[in-house]
Amino acid sequence: MGFDRIVSQEKAIKLLKGTLSTKKIPHALLFLGDAHIGKTTTALAYAKALNCLEPKDHDSCDRCSSCKKIEQGVHPDVKIITPEKDLITINMIREVEEFASLTPLEGKYKVIIIKKSHKMNNAAANAFLKTVEEPPLNTTIILTCENIYALPEPLISRFFKVYFNPLSVDAIKKIMPGIEENLLRIVMGKPGLFISRDLMKDIQWFANTLKNIMEKSKKSPWKDNEEIKWWLDFLCIFLRDSLVKITGKVSSDCCPILPLDFKLKENISELEIFNLYEELQSIKRNIELNLNKSILWNYLVSCLNRLIESSNIENRKPFNTQYSKENLE
Ligand SMILES: [Zn+2]
Repeated sequence: MGFDRIVSQEKAIKLLKGTLSTKKIPHALLFLGDAHIGKTTTALAYAKALNCLEPKDHDSCDRCSSCKKIEQGVHPDVKIITPEKDLITINMIREVEEFASLTPLEGKYKVIIIKKSHKMNNAAANAFLKTVEEPPLNTTIILTCENIYALPEPLISRFFKVYFNPLSVDAIKKIMPGIEENLLRIVMGKPGLFISRDLMKDIQWFANTLKNIMEKSKKSPWKDNEEIKWWLDFLCIFLRDSLVKITGKVSSDCCPILPLDFKLKENISELEIFNLYEELQSIKRNIELNLNKSILWNYLVSCLNRLIESSNIENRKPFNTQYSKENLE
């Protein structure tokens, strides 16, 4: 995929094309934004444009042998690092250093893409800082990052930052015609979720976990920080929908967005929900900084039991999950 097929990231692409037209290629780029909105796809499109044999209008042809190799993940000058067990380790950074020290084999530029760079541990971040301080020739390092607060400031300051936005509802409808409104609201501008997750299973998982919280179960079920973030996203959707209902912007008998057996208690104020919503946003921002899962669990048990009660909502409309994924691949 070249830049021309990436939806709704015009600002980021304009910036990147600008570096190609002026031939001022940054050696270190930081792609910032939520997961599942096209950062890695754009990084690969940039790698293609840098190495394309027949580039046009500062974009790749997406057909030549270089573009095809990058697409298939076999170009010798393009390396992608992905966290393992939720972590980018110092050994992975050493691999990057070694790769960066080689001269390009086939392409004009070596491109190193480090996905989810906020997963670097301290040792990895310190080692990486040295690599970035002494940039190798004809090499561009691209970090994708969902949480800038998890990266050390000296590292961030050395990167040229490119911001990515969640997609608008209209943009997702364009690439996924016929998509149901409920599902659109759940993905919150991140269409990549349709590929990477089974949303129906996730909704059930969220509901089961909420039930455990309401039953004051002792143990948190989350495997890692990603799962916590994803669960908190669902909780925010529930709170946002509840807020919309009590502020009277929609009728109270309308179908719930998430099929849940719980609702907010009658006497809860808008302010209380708003405060919890803000608190959850802050937890999500700081999640990489040694979050203690059992403290979070106990906090949720106490505050959600105060705010939420059981509800038997009848005539619940099932979700229509017949959406096409082909436009997203
Ligand atoms: Zn090409």
